[in-house]
Amino acid sequence: MFDIKIINGLIVDGTGKKAFAADLAINGDKIAAIGDLSKEDAKKVIDAKGQMVAPGFIDFHTHSDYTILFDQRACSRIHAGVTTNVIANCGIGLAPIRDERKQDLISYLSTRIVGTVNAPLFLDWNTVDEYFKRIESNPPAVNVVAYLAQGPVRIDEMGFQDGPASPEQLEHMKAEVVKAMEAGCVGLTSGLIYMPGSYTPKEEMAELCKAMAPYGGYYCTHIRDEGDLEMEALDEAIYIAKEGGVPLHVSHLKAMGAQNYGNVKLCFEKLKAAEAEGLEVSYDAYPYSRGMTSLGAFMPPWLFEGGVSNLVERLKVPELREKAKQDVINGLDNWHSTFVMCGGWKGVMIGSVMKEENKYMEGKTLQDLADDAGVDAFDFAFDLLISENGKVQVVDSIMDQADVDTVITDPNTMIGSDSCDFAHDGILNFGKPHPRAYGTTGVMFRRYVRELGLLTNEDVVRKMTSLPAKRLGIANERGTLKEGYFADIVIFDPETISDVATYADPKQYSVGIDTVIVNGQVSMENGVQLEDVHAGRLLRRK
Ligand SMILES: [Zn+2]
Repeated sequence: MFDIKIINGLIVDGTGKKAFAADLAINGDKIAAIGDLSKEDAKKVIDAKGQMVAPGFIDFHTHSDYTILFDQRACSRIHAGVTTNVIANCGIGLAPIRDERKQDLISYLSTRIVGTVNAPLFLDWNTVDEYFKRIESNPPAVNVVAYLAQGPVRIDEMGFQDGPASPEQLEHMKAEVVKAMEAGCVGLTSGLIYMPGSYTPKEEMAELCKAMAPYGGYYCTHIRDEGDLEMEALDEAIYIAKEGGVPLHVSHLKAMGAQNYGNVKLCFEKLKAAEAEGLEVSYDAYPYSRGMTSLGAFMPPWLFEGGVSNLVERLKVPELREKAKQDVINGLDNWHSTFVMCGGWKGVMIGSVMKEENKYMEGKTLQDLADDAGVDAFDFAFDLLISENGKVQVVDSIMDQADVDTVITDPNTMIGSDSCDFAHDGILNFGKPHPRAYGTTGVMFRRYVRELGLLTNEDVVRKMTSLPAKRLGIANERGTLKEGYFADIVIFDPETISDVATYADPKQYSVGIDTVIVNGQVSMENGVQLEDVHAGRLLRRK
């Protein structure tokens, strides 16, 4: 007698092998059998007729470090078929941190996705192991794999001090790396565009990698520049991994800025060359060509001197307005104009505004809005900033869709949403997220399998299961449907599985996912999440 039997489905086992008809049985938290089980009994039978049965998806790049503590349901993940979150990406994490530095780290985290939750942030731990125990004491609905983020390691030791660490500081940080690896981290992440990664020289990062090397960890990086200086940034990443004696993983691989469209091919060439020289290389991406930021981020920094309210006042002065326009068009010595990266106002769509009278703008580009109003697009943008007191969220087209397609369809690209968890109710129902938070897995099937025919269902499943499981070091027990493996399973309809979230209306769960099972426990059935089931586990590196 099995606990659960899934019948009539097509098994997509995660390895890329073609789907085949078979039943699958679960006992406890493991897969007990795959094959013709028509003569076997089970306490619960799930009919998967017309559907595919696959390993639960691994979201390879999340910022759910806090959200898994605030709301254990992980609703946007379960509804996307995700059964494992990988956390502490881009050098941003919640431990280690000594008491004296906690306020520094908290104020920093609140400026990043990981800390955008509309609740007081806290750090009631010091070590990575203590943070892990906190997760384990009240686990979320999905499994969690964690990196060690370089940000807190450096803030813990040096605060926001610029420049290289002293030999003594470096030794302390290396000792923290060892402690975190022993606690079960799978690697070290960096975010070299963010403080304190931006203060960290490559030699120091390589030293931290050396400390991790004996534990089989790898260096996972948000590289220092994804635009004009991307090749140099990749050279630096390759240097760090080689020098540190660890594999390299490049996060959210992309080429930013209209002037850099097409550069992902050069990125691949560089990474392949490093591979040919013996470096182990991997990468992930999200399947969207747009980013999300504030319209204020398009303005030259001098407009903000003295505070955001000065932006509004300065934009009312004709001469300053004209100077701002020139700077936005031409950029400044130490400031890249996002306007240029987007290819002009046609690449900037209004995401959200506060005032009712401006709501009609949401979902339209600034160029179209200005053309409709018969005014210059710069004047339209400046007047909107004045009207909204600077609070305008925009979706900016910073990547070429052809580049995104090139990266996503590369057989070695893993998929990550680059987001935290959201929910339709409760504390994680906040803000206006990038649709990737909800739609990443759905886009993969809708766009790349059904609309473009560039990937098969089996390819997509592999990219989100066995491929990342291998990188994470969990491929001997997860990421593939196999007897004896943990029963992380998703059942979906290949004809209908799709994202629903859009830039204008992002808070929408994906559709076509019927059942989600985490460690043998049914967490979603008939498309409805069982919100009391929190069957995830923290998967410490073994
Ligand atoms: Zn990043």
